[in-house]
Amino acid sequence: MAKEELECSFCGRKKPETSLLIAGLDAHICDRCIEQAHGIVIEESKQSGNSDLSAELMLKKPKEIKGFLDEYIIGQEYTKRVMSVAVYNHYKRLLQPPTDDDIEIQKSNIVMVGQTGTGKTLMAKTISKMLNVPLAIVDATVLTEAGYVGEDVESILTRLLQAADYNLEKAQRGIVFIDEIDKIARKSDNPSITRDVSGEGVQQALLKLLEGTVVNVPPKGGRKHPDQKFIEVNTENILFIAGGAFDGIERVITKRMNMQSIGYSSMKTDNIDKDNILQYIIPKDLKDFGLIPEIIGRLPVLTHMDPLDAKTLKAILTEPKNAIIKQYKKLFEMDDIAFTITDGALDYIVEKAIEYKLGARGLRSLCEEILTEAMFDLPSSDETKLNVTKTYAEDRLNKSTIKKLKAVS
Ligand code: ADP
Repeated sequence: MAKEELECSFCGRKKPETSLLIAGLDAHICDRCIEQAHGIVIEESKQSGNSDLSAELMLKKPKEIKGFLDEYIIGQEYTKRVMSVAVYNHYKRLLQPPTDDDIEIQKSNIVMVGQTGTGKTLMAKTISKMLNVPLAIVDATVLTEAGYVGEDVESILTRLLQAADYNLEKAQRGIVFIDEIDKIARKSDNPSITRDVSGEGVQQALLKLLEGTVVNVPPKGGRKHPDQKFIEVNTENILFIAGGAFDGIERVITKRMNMQSIGYSSMKTDNIDKDNILQYIIPKDLKDFGLIPEIIGRLPVLTHMDPLDAKTLKAILTEPKNAIIKQYKKLFEMDDIAFTITDGALDYIVEKAIEYKLGARGLRSLCEEILTEAMFDLPSSDETKLNVTKTYAEDRLNKSTIKKLKAVS
């Protein structure tokens, strides 16, 4: 067949009338027919309850989910288990074919309570990586009620759309991680605040989103504007994970436990692990801290992060799949430099991270300070190895601290 005679075998359009004509064995198909056919496939699969989604998500069982989390996150056993079940149930709810019984599985939105740097964000990131769903990380402190300076809660969904490259279907089954949820707690003990802009109003605005509703979202973010086109986002299948340090909540927990122990003599407070009070948290403590009951009700899965001790911090340096030390090893390897670090140096870094009270967050910046000079010098030298000992680490850190002190003086 001569080239100009080529036509779509489905609709008969000639090649010049199409934007694209794809050749098969004995037939051709044009761009329009491909689009139509794709639409039919989606429609069909939706009706048979076997949508794209199930193929893409390939639901892992809770044990498999936890296994995946274990590769990236050290410790936090309890939270990993709770998250695995919550995520499993959430996506099971999404995938269930319509049934005629009246049992409606509710969303398993999660709230994680734990000090900064204990891995809350990492937990959300790892889950989104495993499920290959978009993730938006937002800070609750920038949210304000509509009409006030700051961002409307809808901006959360703008972020999610952006993370999903504006693929609405993908965004609607994504994950939103709301960090610093504790910062929008009601400041009830301050009677002078008549209008609590950043607190209760934002909690109220968040309610609908958490529960599942259709929201008009400005695709480019910013304030709602009458002329702006909106994208309708349904939040019903979006998994919300909230996280916060809830500074001072230990006092609330301890107080409640002490009151209980007065009532029930069998409950002995001496059995309490005072180094990890958070593990005893219950939803009522969140209420006493200042979250409104409705919000707590829509975040039904409550879990806590354990504080990171020296052993855990050391493991974080070396064990996870993309552990910090493994990353430096790789960086040096690219310059044909064999990088090693002694056990003593690792202990020293951990000791400093604890001293600076930075949790796991400090590990990375300490390593940077210790290794920057080597990363600057070695690539242009003949050196083929670098062994970091405690003395080397101490020396580098002291020098950079002295430099910083001099700079401020
Ligand atoms: P949070 O959200 O609780 O403040 P992040 O998740 O941002 O803490 O953690 C800060 C840094 O420490 C990240 O680089 C993260 O990879 C690392 N980290 C924290 N906790 C863990 C952990 N349990 N296992 C592995 N890495 C961790």
